[in-house]
Amino acid sequence: MDLSLPRADDLGPFRVLYLQNRAVGLEGMVVVDNVAIGPSIGGIRLAPDVTAEECARLARAMTLKNAAAGLPHGGGKAVIAADPGMPAREKERLLRCFASSIRDDLSYIPGPDMGTDETCMAWIRDEIGRVVGLPDDSGGIPLDEIGATGFGLTHSVLVAVEYCDFELAGARLVIQGFGAVGKHAARFLCQEGAVLVGASDSRGAISDPDGLDVEKLIRTKDGGGSVADHPTGEALDRDAVLDIECEIWVPAARPDVIREDNVHRLKTRLIAQGANIPCTEAAERTLAEAGVVVLPDFIANAGGVICAAVEYAGGTRTQALETIEEKLRENTGRVLSTSRDRGILPREAAEALATERVRAAMSRRRWGLF
Ligand code: NAD
Repeated sequence: MDLSLPRADDLGPFRVLYLQNRAVGLEGMVVVDNVAIGPSIGGIRLAPDVTAEECARLARAMTLKNAAAGLPHGGGKAVIAADPGMPAREKERLLRCFASSIRDDLSYIPGPDMGTDETCMAWIRDEIGRVVGLPDDSGGIPLDEIGATGFGLTHSVLVAVEYCDFELAGARLVIQGFGAVGKHAARFLCQEGAVLVGASDSRGAISDPDGLDVEKLIRTKDGGGSVADHPTGEALDRDAVLDIECEIWVPAARPDVIREDNVHRLKTRLIAQGANIPCTEAAERTLAEAGVVVLPDFIANAGGVICAAVEYAGGTRTQALETIEEKLRENTGRVLSTSRDRGILPREAAEALATERVRAAMSRRRWGLF
């Protein structure tokens, strides 16, 4: 794993742990970015190509996301370099070993992310008791099953269209990454009248200007297929979703998929960032200059972590959904109105909102960061 970390600043990181156990094949990292507001919550990403830099940037995104959402938690993240498709018994051993390695570090509460799910969280709970994103039958609110992040993103979009020159009814929608976030975002947005005209996953893409059948696509994915197997529409290369004309484009896969070298390919009016850090800073500026509204990741995709925090506090599924709707609508409105009034990027407005809360908490702590 590439272990180079970005430069530290006054917000963090608070703690960086490198984890290795060759007997089990564990190589991973935990970055606890900031715990001034409370113990950090952040997912465990399991993928072959994860890096320390990705972990640190995602941990910072969690600090901002948790603060913006008003949760009593700081930000952290973990990565494990491994194949998410490994046999279940090996995965269980790996995650149990990971959990044992962080047993005594109470500054980090793990949750699910790409490559890990509710079953993985149940193994972690069995090892160390401290986890969010548990299965239903273990007292959890299964956030990916109920589509907490896609639900929140939809409410963020419902507010954002008031700042755009189109209506949600009939708006063309493209989703990059038809996984837990992407498929539920498609489902909820289409219930509000959007039309899904393109979708992709790691194996390919599909497009149909007349609209794809979202429920059928979800069934195809749940059955282990690819969106490219959909019976109607045109099968495309994975990255061709960048070129599909639409009103709403949702990145819901990997970091840095929109960059200076490809940002000119997007033909859209609104980008709602379902994935974490999907867009480079320069590309986000280019989009703003072209009049595209960009909803920052840590505002638009906070539904999952809000659900996790409600679960951790012993709340119910209904309370989680109500909290997500309320916080996402309020924050999106605040960020977009500040952005418009002060002529700054939505991300700058969102960062100001979140860092103000983190700094206020730091000013009240004896040692600043903790
Ligand atoms: P997931 O593993 O369920 O789904 C990811 C999907 O992206 C899969 O369908 C995969 O095939 C596809 N994919 C991978 N690489 C791709 C590529 N290059 N092009 C197109 N598709 C690609 O993961 P998820 O939980 O949906 O998370 C997706 C993103 O959203 C991640 O960045 C994650 O950090 C972020 N996120 C997730 C949640 C959540 O609640 N699950 C919350 C906030 C943010």
